[in-house]
Amino acid sequence: MKGSWLLAAIPVALIAAAPDGARWWSYVEFLASDKLEGRNTGSEGHRKAAEYVAAEFERDGLKPAGEQGYIQPVRFRTLQLDESHSSLSLERDGKSRNVVLGEEATIGARVDPAPSIEAGLVFVGYGLRVPENHYDDFTGLDTKGRIAVYIGGAQPGLSGALAAHYQSGAERWKTLRAAGIVGAISIANPKHMDIPWSRQMANRGQAAMTLAAPGNSDTEGEKITVAWNPARADDLLAGSGHTFEELLALVEAGKALPHFDIPATLRAKTSVLRGELVSQNIAAIYPGSDPALKDEYVVMSAHIDHLGVGKAVNGDAIFNGALDNAAGVATVLDTAANLKDSKAKVRRSILFLIVTGEEKGLLGSKYFAGNPTVPANRIVADINTDMFLPLFPLKRVTVYGLDESTLGDDVRAVAKDMGIEVQLDPDPARNSFIRSDQYSFILRGIPALAMKDGYIKGTREETIFKSWLTDRYHAVSDDLNQPVDKTAAATFDRLAARLLERVANERTRPAWKSDSFFRRYAVTR
Ligand SMILES: [Zn+2]
Repeated sequence: MKGSWLLAAIPVALIAAAPDGARWWSYVEFLASDKLEGRNTGSEGHRKAAEYVAAEFERDGLKPAGEQGYIQPVRFRTLQLDESHSSLSLERDGKSRNVVLGEEATIGARVDPAPSIEAGLVFVGYGLRVPENHYDDFTGLDTKGRIAVYIGGAQPGLSGALAAHYQSGAERWKTLRAAGIVGAISIANPKHMDIPWSRQMANRGQAAMTLAAPGNSDTEGEKITVAWNPARADDLLAGSGHTFEELLALVEAGKALPHFDIPATLRAKTSVLRGELVSQNIAAIYPGSDPALKDEYVVMSAHIDHLGVGKAVNGDAIFNGALDNAAGVATVLDTAANLKDSKAKVRRSILFLIVTGEEKGLLGSKYFAGNPTVPANRIVADINTDMFLPLFPLKRVTVYGLDESTLGDDVRAVAKDMGIEVQLDPDPARNSFIRSDQYSFILRGIPALAMKDGYIKGTREETIFKSWLTDRYHAVSDDLNQPVDKTAAATFDRLAARLLERVANERTRPAWKSDSFFRRYAVTR
């Protein structure tokens, strides 16, 4: 049993000094300022942001926990599609038609594409195989050597975390590869598109990155990946006897999707520009006080990288990333400063970790989790903060991974104390559980979770949340000139700090729930 007997013995001192969120906002203001140029992984602006964080950690008297002081350098390979020398075409009934890149489809650079490929198309529903649910989109299908076309999402009835896991890039490719597939075309469900196609199209010139260390590709053998504009999906499905509208209606009704041949061949030619760069993780330790537990670490993490500078929209080209995720880094810095001010004693050590490369596929956290600067088996938990969206008063908190580990019980306990409700993800289709850095720890067997300012479906708060995604998510308007509820942010910081303190002080380390799917990764630790 996990008890609170320890908490009673320790003064609860981690309460934010500034309930108005002023200090939190001052960090956001620096990190999201134009002079940091959108903090793209490997950029000068990112380096400045990393130095700022290191200086703050030093000022708070934290112990450096990088490889060069507070900094852990991370090496990347970059890959950028040279679109002017790349093309897609569809051949049908002996006639070939050029696909308009951007308007109709985009070629993804996360997969290192083959210079040329030609293959037939097969529609594979969601393109998933979930043994736990005896679900298989490939049974009886001729898929060998073909390109899979699938709709983003998962069959209703799969748990949010499980469905999210199987839709991760790595798991998805494992499934497709096992079916003999050579490439993929995804069509997003317009209902679950966080970023409108027009913005995806505008941002497509971004370089993709992979960790430079060998053995880090999740898409080995994949020859091409394409995102198809859902508004033009019928051009792709033509001749199959199915329409996109019909397929979406089945998705909406929770009915099984059909699987069928698409009588067309995709021809792709690609040219890529390759490069290398170095970016920064930043790590610092607040030492624990218990002789038996101080060599264990509770990680509090947030990513600092964002999208850099893009094409100008209304004269603005800088992706400031104020809420994605200067705000999360500010929460970490606020918590560190509160620890210092309160001189709080915690039994386990706390490892503050700011990571790079999140926007490129959770790469900085993946690197740290694989190359930690403290013994890997002494990391007991990760509490991650990414885009927690303080857009309205914080009355409830959405917790990703709430029912997966005892960390969920810890959140429930501290939130209850503060009069804050706790809820599961109201929108599991967004796959949020695997979409930020907590996932890099989960895959290493470490219990982890992430939290956001929560809303209930059908309320004004949901409208605010959804409009933010549509208007500002990965847009230049996620900047300092947007309405932000600083009091909500301060409340969030208090909640995060109390959670951190509770986990650091508990007698036993956090554990996966016995029925959690993700527990399997802990077995081999
Ligand atoms: Zn982002």
